Amino acid sequence: MADAAVRSGRDPASILLVGATKGVDADRVRAAVAAGLRELGENRVQEALPKIRAVGPGRRWHLIGHLQRNKARLASEYFEVIHSIDSPTTALALDRALSRAGAPGRRLTVLIEVNVAGEATKHGVGPDGVEPLVAAVGACSSLVPGGLMTVAPMGGPEAVRPIFRRLRELRDGLRAGIGGDGFRELSMGMSDDFEVAIEEGATMVRIGRAIFGERAG
Ligand SMILES: *Cc1c(COP(=O)(O)O)cnc(C)c1O
Repeated sequence: MADAAVRSGRDPASILLVGATKGVDADRVRAAVAAGLRELGENRVQEALPKIRAVGPGRRWHLIGHLQRNKARLASEYFEVIHSIDSPTTALALDRALSRAGAPGRRLTVLIEVNVAGEATKHGVGPDGVEPLVAAVGACSSLVPGGLMTVAPMGGPEAVRPIFRRLRELRDGLRAGIGGDGFRELSMGMSDDFEVAIEEGATMVRIGRAIFGERAG
């Protein structure tokens, strides 16, 4: 990560490593935390809960998988960042859960998941849907629109470079409209392509296999 950052004239400290823990049991997550991993990403709310309890406080959990509306309340309680907002209804469900939770002032950072390549099998809004969704999130008093996220198609690091670049351009365009210092996050890059993602401006990379090894099954 540091090499890729330096290569592209970026400060390595400006890029967050999120360890993707799907399929990794709580003991191994604890070992990674003991080794210094501070930010953890889980795909499913239900799979995350026992791990969050086992790892204990002081770590930040990111929801990186699809969020079902009926899990919004649990997600709002256990995660610090939600990377996968792809509809106004999910944003509203999260916002309502937070405002009902009796923790006034608590605001949750959410990222908009963008299906840059328009793949039928992927979640996320298409590039044209991003701006209206950012506006919908911006209207939610308990949510902070933090930026954009994408899961790149298969195909190798250089093949996905244009996808990462497109996500950055989308963010830059929206950021200019929003103004201020917010909306800076670009959650992109996984084990096979994080270096290219960093070269293209990733502020968060989500890495599973390169930390924990191949997943079983
Ligand atoms: C599994 C997963 C990752 C990590 O993928 P690796 O290839 O194991 O690094 C990152 N983001 C999402 C959304 C994932 O589902």
